[in-house]
Amino acid sequence: MAASLDGKVALLTGSGSGIGRASALAVARDGARVVVADRDEAGGNETVSLIKEAGGEATFVATDVSKADSINAAVARTVELYGSLDLAHNNAGIEGATVPIIDYPEEAFDQIVAVNLKGVWLSLKAEITVMAKQGHGAIVNTASTFGLVGVPSCTGYVATKHAVSGLTKATALEYARQGIRVNAVCPGAIDTPLLDRFFEGMTDDVQALSEAYAENHPVGRIGQSSEIGEAVAWLLSDKASFVTGITMPVDGGWTAQ
Ligand code: NAD
Repeated sequence: MAASLDGKVALLTGSGSGIGRASALAVARDGARVVVADRDEAGGNETVSLIKEAGGEATFVATDVSKADSINAAVARTVELYGSLDLAHNNAGIEGATVPIIDYPEEAFDQIVAVNLKGVWLSLKAEITVMAKQGHGAIVNTASTFGLVGVPSCTGYVATKHAVSGLTKATALEYARQGIRVNAVCPGAIDTPLLDRFFEGMTDDVQALSEAYAENHPVGRIGQSSEIGEAVAWLLSDKASFVTGITMPVDGGWTAQ
């Protein structure tokens, strides 16, 4: 039986670590040829090795999503390497500062907007330019549960993730008649280096905060990257052919509360 993404070409930003790596592994397992686009060369090359060890096909392309030239070049390289761009996961993101708004440094706010918001906008623009000509495509943006509800002491993160939710809906509507689906996945707390940094920014007692987050998720634990990767692979596949414009929580029930 053919795998669900056989013959497809996928570009995944921020796939040198955490959630992006897990979705790169999932889409490669499901048959896609993969471009790992990350600013971290070592992490990106490690993802490529993991995919190849598992029998898949992948290439690392050094990319900074906050720079138009860089993401445009990554999309062009993808088409040059593999002949098309069918699937994209716009996932690169940073946690920003974890302080009340009056203490939030302006430079940190500018930086998180540049990566988490403008980076997704630039990625969509570059990818859809190719996909619209092809007449098909599927895109997943990584928002967050913090893109659905407010949380104190991380205004930059919450604001940019809400913006990704809005960007997802608006872009989905613009391209629904052109065969391009655009959705967002909204992870709850997921065990990645970003979550470790987030906890370290919030408290000196990381262990206690980590346990409190696990307890706050109705399933009683935080999630694993692979649990987001599977959702992304499904949203990118034709199994989700009638799904566009959603901001899908994958959060152990957190936003159901
Ligand atoms: P991570 O830090 O493990 O991985 C993020 C990756 O993005 C890294 O490889 C990093 O090098 C890359 N990156 C950062 N800035 C970049 C840029 N300008 N250009 C290209 N690559 C860049 O983090 P993660 O937890 O896997 O996060 C992935 C996404 O998931 C982020 O958008 C994050 O906001 C979101 N998210 C994470 C959680 C969580 O709990 N971990 C929850 C909800 C949403």
